[in-house]
Parts: sequence; C-alpha cells; structure tokens
Amino acid sequence: MDTDAFYQASREANYVKVADIARNIAWTTPTEWGDMQITINLSKPEKDPRAIAAAAKAGPSEKADYIDPATGRARPCPLCVTEDDVACGYAKRLDLSGDAWALWYSPYAYYNEHCIAMSWQHRPMHIDRAAFTSLLDVVDALPQYFFGSNADLPIVGGSILSHDHYQGGRHTFPMEVAPMTEMFELPAFPAVKAGVVKWPLSVIRLQCADRAQLVDAAVAILDAWRAYDDASVGIVSHTGEVRHNTITPILRRKDGAYEMDLALRCNITSDEHPLGVFHPHEELHHIKKENIGLIEVMGLAILPPRVQQVMDERSYTRDDVGRLFARVLEDAGVFKWDAQGREALARFISTLQ
Ligand SMILES: [Zn+2]
Repeated sequence: MDTDAFYQASREANYVKVADIARNIAWTTPTEWGDMQITINLSKPEKDPRAIAAAAKAGPSEKADYIDPATGRARPCPLCVTEDDVACGYAKRLDLSGDAWALWYSPYAYYNEHCIAMSWQHRPMHIDRAAFTSLLDVVDALPQYFFGSNADLPIVGGSILSHDHYQGGRHTFPMEVAPMTEMFELPAFPAVKAGVVKWPLSVIRLQCADRAQLVDAAVAILDAWRAYDDASVGIVSHTGEVRHNTITPILRRKDGAYEMDLALRCNITSDEHPLGVFHPHEELHHIKKENIGLIEVMGLAILPPRVQQVMDERSYTRDDVGRLFARVLEDAGVFKWDAQGREALARFISTLQ
C-alpha cells in the first residue's frame, strides 16, 4: 500500500500535530552502543508504570473518557477505531490475512511517518505465533515501513496493553545499525541466520527470506525464553502462574529478506528494585522511570519535560543525558555485557540448539 498521499493528508488535516512536534527538543549522543537519539517530549504527559498496569486490566467501558488528540473525539480506548475515523480520513482499513485492522499516523510522531496499526477488535496485546504472523502481514502490506510490537506484560510493555497494535514508520533507529557480534546456528531452521546484536538490551537478530521458517524460529525462541530461568543473573520466568518473560519484536525488510529483532524482556521485581529488576534503576529515575517500550528499546529516548529542569539543576549537558539513557537501556538488558552476562547468554542460546 502506497502511504505517501495518506501521510500528507494526515499532516494537512492536523491529525499529525506538526506544530507540537516541532517544539520537541532532539539530539544524538555517541555512546559505545552507537549514536543514541534523544527527545525531550514537550507535548505528552509522563505515565507511571503502575497506572499502565492498572489500565491494562480495565475494559473499554472503564476508559470511556479518552479524548483523541488528533480528532478531538471521545473513544472507548485510545486505539479503538470507528467507521467515522475512516470516513474523515484519519484511519485507513488494513486487511491482514482476513483479519480487520486499521492504520493511522501517531498524533505525536516520535519519528518520521510514525504510524500505528491496530486490530479493529478491542482485544489485549499478545506476543505469540499469531502476533509474529500479523507482524509479517503488516510489513508485507507496508514494506516501506518497519513495524514492531511492545511486549505484552506490564513494566516491560508499552503504555497501552489493552488493545492489540503495532507501531511502525520510516526511520532508522540506532539498534537497526548496531552490528551482530556473534552468529549462531539454529539447526531446526537452516534458512534462518541468527546472531546477537551489540546492544545494551539483549537482542537476538534473525534474517530470513522465508516467512514460515522465520515465524517458526521466532516462536521457538519465544517458547524457550518464556520458560527460562537463570538465578545467577536474576532471570525469573514465573512467580507461581504469573509469567515474567516476554519479547519485544521488531521486523523490517532488508536486502530482499526479513530482518527480525527479538529483545528478551523480564519484568520480575525485587525488594531492591520494586519497579523492575530489568527496568531503569532508581538512580536513573530523574531521567527515566517510565516503561522501556518498543521505541526506546530501539535507542530513541522519549524523555519527559521535567528532564529540562534536571539538566539545569545538575548542570547536565545533552551528552550527559544521552549517556544516562544508554545506562537506562543497560538496566533493561537481561544479559549484561560482563563476563557473567555473556556466559549466561551463551547458556540460553545453547538451549535453542
Ligand atoms: Zn480498544
């Protein structure tokens, strides 16, 4: 689907808040992981991770007061699309393997052509075989864009867990250009090239031209990760029946094939880290205490307005903030880049072989 006219019309109708976006402050900071992209967002309020977890449990009727910033219309949840949204040109229908979806451009646009694909049906986010398949469907429909999904658990997920959706767009994130430091075999999936990305979060990259094998490999890694425990590095897959391990997946077309990045996530909490062991630790909360969602996983920081004040008070330079953001991502990594963490990652990879 060609999106140029749709994107242009969305800007002209002010569904994309071009003027508000222009107020955001943005820069890049070189780090050992690459050039981090930093944005201080001056148009959207910060959310507390506990409020996001509570909202995930609420049904659409309990959220009837959401006012869409693009259209000014009330909707039952931020991502429930109506026929009116299509009629006024805000949303476009997408048909993915017979399932009704829609596409619109994010009013706040954190990067170029930042779009959201959402299921027409109000149903929770899920990371599973169906999600990987839909992700391939949406990239097949819109190969000019990358798409990714937030994880499906509180703390490590995005801000809207109650409605199935992906975010996409036309932008090169730092993680995309981060190299693979180590390649490994997945004997059950010979068409898939797999490697570890040099990135503060723990990311496995899969490259494959074959859809079916790519989905099967992603599902195998997800299943292995969901059940994986390693007390030596703090990874706890379950507390009773409650799951802690999940994946933030990102998919793009590259060199005639698919490239899928799987960021391994774990939302376990502890007395020392009540907001999350693999979440920005308390000494970084003055910079970032929100969930590390899809966009930040890829190396684009969306920092709250108060960070400007913090910079003044602590005499931080922009690069100081950029380097602190890299530490935020290091906290979110389940396998650290020290010897212990690399050995633990090698043990996990060996379970895939
Ligand atoms: Zn909804």
